[in-house]
Amino acid sequence: MSADFSILKEEIHSLEEGGADWLHIDVMDGHFVPNITFGPKIVRTINNLTDLTLDVHLMIENPENYLEDFRNAGADIITVHQEACPQIHSTIKRIQELGAKAGVSINPGTPVESIQEILGDVDLILIMSVNPGFGGQKFISSSVKKVETISGLLNSIHADPYLEIDGGIDETNAGIVTKAGCNVLVAGTGVFKNPNRSEGVKNLRAAALSK
Ligand code: ZN
Repeated sequence: MSADFSILKEEIHSLEEGGADWLHIDVMDGHFVPNITFGPKIVRTINNLTDLTLDVHLMIENPENYLEDFRNAGADIITVHQEACPQIHSTIKRIQELGAKAGVSINPGTPVESIQEILGDVDLILIMSVNPGFGGQKFISSSVKKVETISGLLNSIHADPYLEIDGGIDETNAGIVTKAGCNVLVAGTGVFKNPNRSEGVKNLRAAALSK
């Protein structure tokens, strides 16, 4: 959602050039979060422009009603919010049945305990380090502790899903969250503030891997 959509093709190519591993796609419905972005149609457009993994983050109510649409549009990973899914196990299972990797996300105000029962069943855990809705927000530093807690829990049950963080990630905190246990970093403004997107991705990766 940080990209310039009038030149989406060029934006994606410069991210590819910079070595981005995945494209993270923020879908917002104006209900679960105050903002509205886009739906499956744009995901399909993006899928036609790239071979990169499409990591689709559904910040929507009743995500179970749209899983098939997003999968058909080209989503390789579909992440739903714990707060939006009263039947989280069946939603996760449904995503996997559709052939996608399934992720669960929690907002900054949601405790780790709320996803403890599902840690062994998901392919990805997404920790929100800002309250979802808008780009350009400041990183909430207590998220680091949350990542460490989840990382410890995953070790104790010998589970190894991706551990992803989203919100306010940039060169100043990329190394910190990586050390805490994250292996997927989402950056919007953190990359797109650089007019040269390619360089933005490279700088972020260097910061994530720095000691
Ligand atoms: Zn996201």
